Amino acid sequence: NLAGMSKEHMMDIRRQYCNPMTMKVTYYKKPVFLHQGYMQWLWDVDGKRYLDMFAGVATVSVGHCHPKVTAATEQQLKKLWHTTNIYVYPPLHEYCEKLASYLPDPLKVIYLTNSGSEANDLAMLMARLHTGNFDIITFRGSYHGGSPQALGLTSDGAYKYPIANGLGCTNTMCPDVFRGLWGGSHCRDSPVQTIRECSCAQGTQTHASIVICFLYIYTIQMAFLCLISIDHCMANEQYIKQLKETFATSVPTRIAAFFGEPIQGVGGAVQYPKNYLKEAYKLVRERGGICISDEVQTGFGRTGSHFWGFQGHDVIPDMVTMAKGIGNGFPMGAVVTTPEIAASFAKGIHFNTFGGNPMACAVASSVLDTIKEDGMQQNSLHVGTYLMTELAKLRDIYEIIGDVRGKGLQIGVEMVTDKVNRDPLPPEAMSAIFEDIKDMGVLIGKGGLFGQTFRIKPPMCITMEDADFFLAVFNKSIYNYMEKR
Ligand code: PMP
Repeated sequence: NLAGMSKEHMMDIRRQYCNPMTMKVTYYKKPVFLHQGYMQWLWDVDGKRYLDMFAGVATVSVGHCHPKVTAATEQQLKKLWHTTNIYVYPPLHEYCEKLASYLPDPLKVIYLTNSGSEANDLAMLMARLHTGNFDIITFRGSYHGGSPQALGLTSDGAYKYPIANGLGCTNTMCPDVFRGLWGGSHCRDSPVQTIRECSCAQGTQTHASIVICFLYIYTIQMAFLCLISIDHCMANEQYIKQLKETFATSVPTRIAAFFGEPIQGVGGAVQYPKNYLKEAYKLVRERGGICISDEVQTGFGRTGSHFWGFQGHDVIPDMVTMAKGIGNGFPMGAVVTTPEIAASFAKGIHFNTFGGNPMACAVASSVLDTIKEDGMQQNSLHVGTYLMTELAKLRDIYEIIGDVRGKGLQIGVEMVTDKVNRDPLPPEAMSAIFEDIKDMGVLIGKGGLFGQTFRIKPPMCITMEDADFFLAVFNKSIYNYMEKR
């Protein structure tokens, strides 16, 4: 054993001294005891190698112990570990200038924090101060953090406690075109379409225009192809109606903020209909609120087509929160907003001991450089599109793969009992597949309100060969499960 500490001893310590939750959530029945990481690979204490397709929950952006980031960290380590931003020191200023250059106008004022929850707490505070309003809207099924304030934004019962939390936070229906009430195969922006058919009855209407769609007409007992075209996604209208109902039923006429991830992360890579965020932003702004994009998982090139997830929705938020990939695993987060909103917040003193300390800034700066120099955003697009295209082929083979979706390396594979009812695949079945995938040397994640979605979000340095390895393992694990059941 490479760790120099037995597995039993580690588990004893865990049982006695660690947050009890870490006993419930070792993630696997036979836990993984990790020892070392390099780029997209992890090794356990017995020297077994795993392909990391989860990246510590989309956190290791450029690769474990990436040589460039490690070198930058070492350099700073020898110079200055810590001081706070009451002093002026180069790493902070170099980093803020660099990060600002990645954001569109007017998003230029940066607050550095130590985590995503802390960034979202700060964003809530600033939104309320700036607007003078209190109510904040988020999507059902979202995760925005575990601190008492951020828990109000989070809308997944698994993370909630039976105490009053996050007063003033209201949830609206998540515009999920696969599991939600309305959907359609063409609604969202993904290299693969959902298998859910365009159906007027389900809220997706077809109109004459540019795109050509093949529609099977069952009513006359024979399926024949009919060329029709799609103008817009009616599901979008239905979900926007739901948002308007949320305004009408549960918040005063004026609101403070709307928080949304561009693609839901913990929720299971849920993608919204095209234009939903654009219309939602307009409605929120009409009611005095600001729009906040939580880029904790989708930022830093992960979605491939864009550096920030919001850019894929053709919107510019009033505030962006980020963490995880910002530091490639170094504890760090940030809020970026407009000078106008920052001015409303400047009336008091906002101090954060570690936010923006020299170590964090040096690491984050080299992460930005590495993403650019190693072409990682392009790699996300390239490998991610390939993964999704191949996963969609497996979806068409296996009855229990309900949906494949996402963009770049933010991918979800939603598992169902069958494609017609789309009931979530039960936890025991999910665990069996999950454990098998791990035993074959690949780590992935799970998510969704019912734990029914496999989450694939590897470090952005993965290669096409890694993708093929993952696909072979994934295929085999589903095959094994189908054989046994
Ligand atoms: N926002 C999103 C979208 C997240 O996925 C997470 C963490 N899973 C957070 C916020 C909270 O980040 P942290 O755990 O760093 O507090």
